[in-house]
Amino acid sequence: MTKTVTALDDSAPSTDWRNQAACAGHPDPDLWFPISSDDPATEAKKICWDYCPVRDVCGMIAVRTGEQYAVAGGYRTSDPDERAQLREWLGFGRSAASRVRCTECGATFSTRAKFNTCEDCRGFAPVEDLHRHINALLDAGRSARSIAASASVGVSTICKLAKKEDGWQNVHKTIARRILAITLDDVHAITLDADAVA
Ligand code: SF4
Ligand SMILES: [Zn+2]
Repeated sequence: MTKTVTALDDSAPSTDWRNQAACAGHPDPDLWFPISSDDPATEAKKICWDYCPVRDVCGMIAVRTGEQYAVAGGYRTSDPDERAQLREWLGFGRSAASRVRCTECGATFSTRAKFNTCEDCRGFAPVEDLHRHINALLDAGRSARSIAASASVGVSTICKLAKKEDGWQNVHKTIARRILAITLDDVHAITLDADAVA
């Protein structure tokens, strides 16, 4: 195993990263378990690629455990070609580290695995500020659903953070930034849009 994997294991307690997965609490978890090799699992993979802040951790664990059934890290592990693509994306077998620009903060960093974000941005932030911020939005009359939509996270994540359920001490910084950036106006606009559609 590479040094990167060890570092990830240290900083990503299993309960934390799973709770932050974009697939957590999805109404149709079967999307991540294609029952046929003809099923491209397009919808599940799109959620992984577009919304999941822990895609790299998920992919690393799938490779490490030899997962060969579920969609993990945005790839069908049931497909040998996609398993190889997952390993390639994570940088397995690559000897030289490459320099990439962090998509979150813009800093340049060196990585052997193909991470999009630097180590600092992949870290965790304390939940206390999020708890306060979400409850201020809720107290002002915003719904958990509209807050979740604005932050591109699951409604259950917002509810758990609001109630301090599950004893979370910290959450992934990417999610924390998205939630803390929400203003009353943002959420209000989304609520109005939803009302207009309904
Ligand atoms: S990468 Fe996909 S399968 Fe893995 S935790 Fe994220 S959403 Fe779930
Ligand atoms: Zn960064």
